[in-house]
Amino acid sequence: MSNGILFVMSGPSGTGKGTICEKLLDNKANDLFLSVSSTTREKRKGETDGVTYNYTTEENFKKMAENGEMLEYAVYSGNYYGTPKKTVEDMLLSGKNVLLEIEPQGALKVKDAFPEAVLMFIVPPTMKELRKRLSERGRETEEQIERRLDAAKWEFEQSPRYNYIFVNDSLEECVAEIEKTIRETAKSRSLVDRLLNEKY
Ligand code: 5GP
Repeated sequence: MSNGILFVMSGPSGTGKGTICEKLLDNKANDLFLSVSSTTREKRKGETDGVTYNYTTEENFKKMAENGEMLEYAVYSGNYYGTPKKTVEDMLLSGKNVLLEIEPQGALKVKDAFPEAVLMFIVPPTMKELRKRLSERGRETEEQIERRLDAAKWEFEQSPRYNYIFVNDSLEECVAEIEKTIRETAKSRSLVDRLLNEKY
């Protein structure tokens, strides 16, 4: 059996990346499995330990990182976030396609460790629209929104290192485009696997 494909999704806060990932995971035809990250941030309303994240203390997180249990980790807004190395490797080895929803510092470390990973970046159609989405979400203060918009600029600067950039203007169209990319990647990877195993 060939290894699964590692898909990595990033995009600034407010681009709709979370909703996009939910839709991709809900559609069984995509054959995608989420890697649950560890974090030191507080659990938000509606989140579930072990499903949304594995919530842990900073002390425990640092221990896991020192023991080499993280494929990558990063500090974002003062909290640690990290991808479990063994779980991802086991899923890939068993042929599962894995989705990581992580910020760019981590995504680019994953690209170094797994050059064959497929990196996808979500952008809003305009900065004005991004500001509107952040305001409508009502989760942050005006000052926090300004900080998120500044952070978004840094994230955009990293996007040329990704394999694909998708614009989330219409959610349905954006998801459809990503699903097409997932299908085509799976198809071309299995073609290459077949060619590599063919007698000549
Ligand atoms: P939130 O606190 O809103 O759930 O996530 C904050 C940011 O951390 C998001 O950009 C999210 O994609 C990112 N993130 C979540 N898990 C990980 C992880 O395991 N590693 C890295 N580097 N970023 C992560």
